[in-house]
Amino acid sequence: MLDSFPMDTHSPQLDASKGPHWTVRINYHYRAGSFFLIFIGLALHLHARGAGMVLWTLLALQFLVYPHLLYWRAARAADSQKAEMNNLVLDALLLGMWVGALHFPLWPSFSLWMGCSLNITINKGWRGMLPAMAAFCSGILVGVAIVGFQFLPDTGWPTTAVSIFGMAVYVVVTGNASSVRNRQLRATREKLRLGEQAMQAANETLQQQIGEIQVLQGKLKEQAVRDPLTGLFNRRYLDTIVPHELARCARDGVPLCLMMMDIDHFKHVNDTYGHQGGDEVLKTLGTLLIDSVRVSDVACRYGGEEFLLVLPNMPVTNALLRAEQLRAVFAKQAVEFGGEQIRVTVSIGIACYPADGCTGDVLIRCADLALYRAKAEGRDRVLLFAPEMVPH
Ligand code: GH3
Ligand code: MG
Ligand code: MG
Repeated sequence: MLDSFPMDTHSPQLDASKGPHWTVRINYHYRAGSFFLIFIGLALHLHARGAGMVLWTLLALQFLVYPHLLYWRAARAADSQKAEMNNLVLDALLLGMWVGALHFPLWPSFSLWMGCSLNITINKGWRGMLPAMAAFCSGILVGVAIVGFQFLPDTGWPTTAVSIFGMAVYVVVTGNASSVRNRQLRATREKLRLGEQAMQAANETLQQQIGEIQVLQGKLKEQAVRDPLTGLFNRRYLDTIVPHELARCARDGVPLCLMMMDIDHFKHVNDTYGHQGGDEVLKTLGTLLIDSVRVSDVACRYGGEEFLLVLPNMPVTNALLRAEQLRAVFAKQAVEFGGEQIRVTVSIGIACYPADGCTGDVLIRCADLALYRAKAEGRDRVLLFAPEMVPH
C-alpha cells in the first residue's frame, strides 16, 4: 500500500519543477501515509500477541522511518525515477518479510500483497508484476527463515478493521489520483491539440502570405524590366542582357546581331494625331516585335520611338532578311486610331558581333550609325553597318 502514479508517464507540468522526478515526490506522500496505516494495523496485532521490544522497534523503523529514508535515497540518485522503481521492489521484499515473520496474519497479509500488486501494476503494468511478486515471495521466505514457519492467519477485529479500512482508503485514494492524473493528461493533450491547430493555421497563413509575396516579387521584378506602354523590355534590362548574351555567343562561337529601329517622322504622327495616336503606333510596333522575335531574342524599347532587337546566334544575312521583313510588314500595317488609319515606316540599322565589335556599347553605336545613314538615305530602309559610316 504505497504509491499511486505511473512511472513511465511524464507530466510536463510536474517535470518542469525542480527536484527529484515527480513520481518520487508523489510516491513519498502515499508511501508515508499508507505505511502509517499499516503501522497501526500491525501494532494492534503485535499488541494482541504481546510482542517484545525488538519487534516494536523494527515495526517503528520499517513503517515510520523507512519511507523517509527511501525518499532521501531516491531524491539523491542520479536517475531518481529508476531509483524509485527499485524502491518499489524493495518495498515488496520487506513487506513479504513481515508477512512471513508474522506467520501470515490474514487481513494484514492480504493488504500488503494487494498494495504491492497495485503499486507495481499502476507504475509498470504487467511487466512489473514478476519482479515485485518474486521480491514479495522472497521476502516471505526470508521472514520464515528468520523466525521459523508457522501459519497463524487469525487476527483480532481491531487489526482486521484497520487493515480493511486502510486497504479501502488506499484503493480510493489511488483511484482518485489516477483520475486526477488522467484529467490532467487529457487537458494537456487538448491544449497541445489546440496549440497544434493554431500553429497549423498560422503556418498556412504564413505560407499563403509567402506565396503572395513571391507572386508580388515576381511581378515587381517583371515590372522593373518592362516598358509599361509596349510591354517590351526596357533599357535597364538591355544593359544587363547584352553583355550576358555576347559572352554566351563568344563561348559558343556564334554571331549576334543588333537591330536598331526608329520610327520615321514620328514627331509628325504626334503632331497630326496627338500623343495618344503616337502611343497607339508605339504599341502596334511593340506587338509586332513581340510576335515576330524568337524565344531567344530580346526586344527592347530603347528610347522614345527607338527599338532595339538583340538576336543571338543569328548570322548577318538572316538579320538583314528579318529586318527587311519587319520593315515591310510595318510599312503595310495601318494603325487604327480615332476612326483613322495611321501609316508609318521604320528605318533599321544593323551591327553584328564579331564583325563590327565585341562589346555592347560598340555594337549599339555601330547599329545607331547604320540607322542614321538609313535616315539620311531617305528612311523606310534597312542598312548594315559599314566602317565608312563612322564620322571622321
Ligand atoms: P526621324 O524620322 O528623323 O526619326 O524623325 P522623328 O520625328 O521620328 O524623330 P524626332 O526625334 O524628331 O521625334 C521623336 C518624337 O517622339 C519626339 C517625341 O515627342 C516623341 N516621343 C517620344 N516618346 C514618346 C512616347 O512615349 N509617346 C509618344 N506619343 N511620343 C513620343
Ligand atoms: Mg528617334
Ligand atoms: Mg524617328
